Amino acid sequence: MKRAVYPGTFDPVTNGHLDIIKRASKLFDEVVVGVLRNSAKTPLFSTDERVNMLREVTKDIPNVRIQAFDGLSVDFVRACDAQVIIRGLRAITDFEYELQMAQTNRILAPDIDTMFLIAGLKFTYLSSTTVKEVATFGEDVSRFVPACVGEKLREKYAGKTRQ
Ligand code: ADP
Repeated sequence: MKRAVYPGTFDPVTNGHLDIIKRASKLFDEVVVGVLRNSAKTPLFSTDERVNMLREVTKDIPNVRIQAFDGLSVDFVRACDAQVIIRGLRAITDFEYELQMAQTNRILAPDIDTMFLIAGLKFTYLSSTTVKEVATFGEDVSRFVPACVGEKLREKYAGKTRQ
């Protein structure tokens, strides 16, 4: 069975992430979306919230599974019995970091390959960070994230809207 892991913070999942998940699900028998628990980024949403949002938005894709993980991606990939790491590339700004990560992972685990999917044209500008920034001002984020994620963002920022 060809299995890939798509690791990330997903704080929260955006339409850009979802596009990568859908496309990867057509390339592999199974895609495990790995939600990094202890991110250095101090996520807005708890691990459970991030996992639940991802489960909700992928519930109609039968070969996608969502799982939280700690530690190195390559260890998680091995534990999943997967052979490939999926990452998304939006612009040249992503490239340097992703190249470093991919090369480091290749040294740690030569049997695991990183596969990059180029962001869909409609999603190249989109990041969880900018979505959160827009949501803090009480703006509508329905063009950027699935409806249930927009709802969660509204709940998070309710009463805390910036001027
Ligand atoms: P990180 O894993 O670096 O904390 P994210 O969880 O936001 O970042 O993203 C996980 C992966 O998805 C990364 O490879 C990132 O480049 C990619 N990604 C993020 N946003 C998009 C998007 N709009 N379109 C395609 N890929 C994306």
